[in-house]
Amino acid sequence: MRTSGAAGKLATSGGRIVVDLDALVENHRLIARQAAPARAAGVVKADAYGLGAAQVAPALAAAGCRDFFVALLQEALDLKPLLPADADLYVLNGLAIGDEPLCAEAGVRPVLNSLEQARRWAETARTLGRPLPAALQIDSGMSRFGLSADEVAAFLAAPGFREAVDVRVVMTHLACAGAPDAPSNRAQLAAFRDLAGRFEGRPALSIANSAGSFLGPEFHGDLVRPGIALYGAAPSPGQAGLLRPVVRLEARVAQVRHIPAGAGVGYDLAFTAERPSRIATLAVGYADGWPRRLGGPSGKGAAAWFQGHRLPIVGRVSMDSMAVDATDLPPDALAPDALAEGDYVELIGPNAPLETVAEQADTIPYEILTGLGARLSRTYLRPETSRSPS
Ligand SMILES: *Cc1c(COP(=O)(O)O)cnc(C)c1O
Repeated sequence: MRTSGAAGKLATSGGRIVVDLDALVENHRLIARQAAPARAAGVVKADAYGLGAAQVAPALAAAGCRDFFVALLQEALDLKPLLPADADLYVLNGLAIGDEPLCAEAGVRPVLNSLEQARRWAETARTLGRPLPAALQIDSGMSRFGLSADEVAAFLAAPGFREAVDVRVVMTHLACAGAPDAPSNRAQLAAFRDLAGRFEGRPALSIANSAGSFLGPEFHGDLVRPGIALYGAAPSPGQAGLLRPVVRLEARVAQVRHIPAGAGVGYDLAFTAERPSRIATLAVGYADGWPRRLGGPSGKGAAAWFQGHRLPIVGRVSMDSMAVDATDLPPDALAPDALAEGDYVELIGPNAPLETVAEQADTIPYEILTGLGARLSRTYLRPETSRSPS
């Protein structure tokens, strides 16, 4: 299987992330089919949820995606040169005061989240002597970003805005999309429709993130905005197995040691061996984004995996390493060349799905993915090659 990426770093990093771009593109296709005739964007903020926007976004573009969302202008400026000229790139958080000219010159579109932001974008348009495209967000009930109903009315009543700001997308964001039965979903949809229907020029309407894309056709609008589902995590609990996993995380075995019964392991000697034990020290720790709480009882059974065998995490997770108990590996996995220094063990993968790891860490897959550190190597399986047998 051919891979690309930071290949030269593999031997020297403590762990590696393997990103299956084929699975990613398939997940995008699945959502696009589900949402059709609405278009499916790609949300690639936070460096494509930690996986590498410079790899992820072009892979989506090659598969036909033409609408991209990041959170910050800096992310957009980094990404813009890597996208096709006809792709649209939006900045979800809006612009910091004074960044408007930079954004306009780069051909990036802000999401206008307040009347004041709309006023500044209109002013930039007048300075440049041309209307400037943008998305406009309506707060339909989440109280995070977006114009209130009063602000929408003020925007529509001000001819200066409407001439200067070319509103291409009118969007909102759901607070409880992951809970399909939450009454707020329909309430937000109704509030949004009421306000969005007042815009002339037929801007694209956009409501749904990943989970929202599965709430039914009335939530699709013209453009859905999936993020986490592209990266393989089930948008809500009922949807496990629907999407293809995209991420594997593997830790390098830095040392394997035998310890007698009674020996303590790691900081605070939080684990004591009850029997003669084989302990493997892995070169991944909390500085790599592997949560410290996954060590010991708070880890709810978190483990590494080797050839399908479970290696429980024992003791504290350190900054740069953690210990796993390999005592129960069956004899064939204990052969002289098995589980040795230099081997890799699975931390996220078929035996340890991302959702399970997040659950064990008392968090959500988003936080696990975006926390994975810069010193882990990232390797990419390419759509055109990952199906080939070798
Ligand atoms: C992050 C984000 C998304 C994508 O959300 P997922 O739950 O990852 O699909 C969509 N829309 C907005 C406004 C966002 O902030």
